[in-house]
Amino acid sequence: MEKLEQRILQDGQALSETVLKVDSFLNHQVDPQLMYEMGTYFKRYFDKYNITKILTIESSGIAPAVMTAMQMNVPMIILKKSRSKTLKDDIYQTTIHSFTKGVDYELTLSKKYISSQDRTLIIDDFLANGEAASGAIRLVEESGATVCGIGIVVEKSFQPGRKKLEDQGYDVYSLARISKLEKNLIEFIKE
Ligand code: 5GP
Repeated sequence: MEKLEQRILQDGQALSETVLKVDSFLNHQVDPQLMYEMGTYFKRYFDKYNITKILTIESSGIAPAVMTAMQMNVPMIILKKSRSKTLKDDIYQTTIHSFTKGVDYELTLSKKYISSQDRTLIIDDFLANGEAASGAIRLVEESGATVCGIGIVVEKSFQPGRKKLEDQGYDVYSLARISKLEKNLIEFIKE
């Protein structure tokens, strides 16, 4: 998505060779018009799967996910993060290692909002090692629902997330794919 790449070049900040900060339009302040256009791209790519629900991980995936859900006319589910395990039998729960914070957290999904008939699309803001996406996949599959695809806003292609997900047979579609990140240098993979 050309417009997203331009915005990353203009406003993105490489904090290190592995972490990109995009607080001005995605992670802190949100540009709704850009989010809407992301939704258009995700809808175009994933329309073939007859998606019934979109899932995202709180909180930075919410903006692009809700814009996609609106355009696909399906509900969006926010997978909730919590610090410790909760012993409840009305939720699915899995442990995830956070790439940016370096700690483990619990991801939960209420059984009320998913059924084995659902055909789901998982949307997240970044793909690094694939931990967050893999956790979301575990929750969906535990419910018996189908994961049709993973939609990512910014993929850091020099990290192993995409390969890990593709090796398991998942369809990964990313709006921007970064091949190299350095101070004052951001390079993209051109499709
Ligand atoms: P993964 O689970 O694929 O290793 O990392 C993805 C998650 O970590 C995303 O949900 C995102 O919140 C966070 N993340 C990973 N890399 C970055 C990054 O470079 N910048 C920001 N802002 N978040 C990141």
